[in-house]
Amino acid sequence: MEIKTRFAPSPTGYLHIGSARTALYSWLYSRHNKGKFILRIEDTDSERSTLNSISSIIDSMKWLGLNWDEGPYYQSQRTNRYCEVINDMLKAGTAYKCYCSKERLDILRNIQINKREKPRYDGFCRNKIYSNNIDKPYVVRFNNPQNGTVAFYDQIRGLIEFSNQELDDLIICRTDGSPTYNFCVVIDDWDMGITHVIRGEEHINNTPRQINILKAIGAKIPTYAHLSVILDSDGKKLSKRCNAIDVMQYRDDGYLSEAFLNYLVRLGWSHGNQEIFSLSEMIALFNFNTVSKSASKLNIKKLKWLNQYYINNLPLNYIEQELQRHTRKQKININNGPNLSKLITLVRKRSQTLLEIAISYKYFYEEFDIFNIEVAKKYLRPNIRSPLELIRNKLAVIEDNQWIIENIRNVIQDTVDNLNFSMNILGIALRVALTGQCKSLSLDIIIETIGRKRSIARINQALKFIDKL
Ligand code: GLU
Repeated sequence: MEIKTRFAPSPTGYLHIGSARTALYSWLYSRHNKGKFILRIEDTDSERSTLNSISSIIDSMKWLGLNWDEGPYYQSQRTNRYCEVINDMLKAGTAYKCYCSKERLDILRNIQINKREKPRYDGFCRNKIYSNNIDKPYVVRFNNPQNGTVAFYDQIRGLIEFSNQELDDLIICRTDGSPTYNFCVVIDDWDMGITHVIRGEEHINNTPRQINILKAIGAKIPTYAHLSVILDSDGKKLSKRCNAIDVMQYRDDGYLSEAFLNYLVRLGWSHGNQEIFSLSEMIALFNFNTVSKSASKLNIKKLKWLNQYYINNLPLNYIEQELQRHTRKQKININNGPNLSKLITLVRKRSQTLLEIAISYKYFYEEFDIFNIEVAKKYLRPNIRSPLELIRNKLAVIEDNQWIIENIRNVIQDTVDNLNFSMNILGIALRVALTGQCKSLSLDIIIETIGRKRSIARINQALKFIDKL
């Protein structure tokens, strides 16, 4: 049997990190089993579904490399099919028209609540034979079995069982003729030949209803796996305000998709103590035996650690290519300075994100005329004037073919020795002069990479600043 899984987002917002993990597990399961993976957009809620969300979800899937073999299918384009099955079910008696008024249902509900019973439809219209020409609005309800249980084996949670008496006669078609969510999912899973449904735990309660409908229409029941929720680092529900939950935000913050996927896969799945997984290893090793039943917590430190690992271990030209987005966004003109791959080689060990590389090394490519004023006032003091001047003069006379790190290092060391000045104080001042900040690579590397002209101009700029104090 060919394994077929699907990812079925409702496009009511961007791709949430939790849904991205669902998509990944579903994708991995199909790839591991050499099956098919389907993308289905569940856009039946026309008020909440937006085109922007659809494109953001698709962009995120593409960024992560979660390619699909079929789709995207759109539920909004399948209404005729849903109506066709509803008619078949009405004929077969597995569904029925319900003419109960809102008033009747409200009264029923209140009585049940007062008796502390769970509100549910009482089956008033279930066995009624109505003539076909009643001119009153109606819904179509599924004729749910009245007795017995519905059970399924969840790949993560084991056996889950519901009593049919807990389940309502679900409305499958509204008075305006539109099919309802749970019904569309069932027909899609059936038509698309889905063998494994992998989704969030919030759908566990839908599963017995969906299984009953599948049975009623004679469809094969897929195997289910319901993934636990992802919480923030304090164990609280993720919220838009406090957490980065939009997948694209991670890309914009400078994470590599390799690191993000590795991080996602470990949010709830393990393989011994292994932390680093290439995509092909994930595909080879993924299964549900070690997917956790408990909630997972976000851990940004771990994501940063993985990102740093991939920044340093993926080929240089790939990192250079991925960095382009960030250099563009930061409006850095990389033609105006050192060779980018040389720079990446120098800085990647210290960097946790691509954005960090782009921002903190901007000074290699761009002049800055305003220092961080707090930092400048603190470190560019009058006592630093003559050492800075001396270094500038010595740099000016290094022959072009002698412009190497070692000679530059000697210039700094000689100045410290000659003037009997503190290396620490000079070091920070020189950093502020050359980069505008006090944390950076080692000075000799900065000067060598920035080049003579820029280094001298920046030292002059710092001298002017000191003179104005
Ligand atoms: N559309 C549902 C959601 O976005 C998923 C439904 C399913 O996977 O069955 O949560």
